Amino acid sequence: MERDVKLSETSEKICPSCGQWTTWSKQPHDRCIHCGFELMAESIRKEEIRKERFYRKPAGLITIKGSEPAWLQAVYKGINFVYFIFVGIMAAVVWFITTVAG
Ligand SMILES: [Zn+2]
Repeated sequence: MERDVKLSETSEKICPSCGQWTTWSKQPHDRCIHCGFELMAESIRKEEIRKERFYRKPAGLITIKGSEPAWLQAVYKGINFVYFIFVGIMAAVVWFITTVAG
């Protein structure tokens, strides 16, 4: 079968659901002409999970109940602060790797 390469808006893509070639105009909600599967569904979902992970506020390592002595709360806050910075750096590194290399 011959398929000419056109610089049109439409291209072809193998449907991840039924494995058949289908037309794809690179729109987020294009569906497979054979089974109706949303072609971008998987990558949209992955992207959402990635965003969610990235933007989710990191919970503190230690939960301060409020019944601890003041000095202990200060220690806990210090530990949580260091943990927050660490998670922030890790998130930035993960973001950098996935955005630049991914
Ligand atoms: Zn399909």
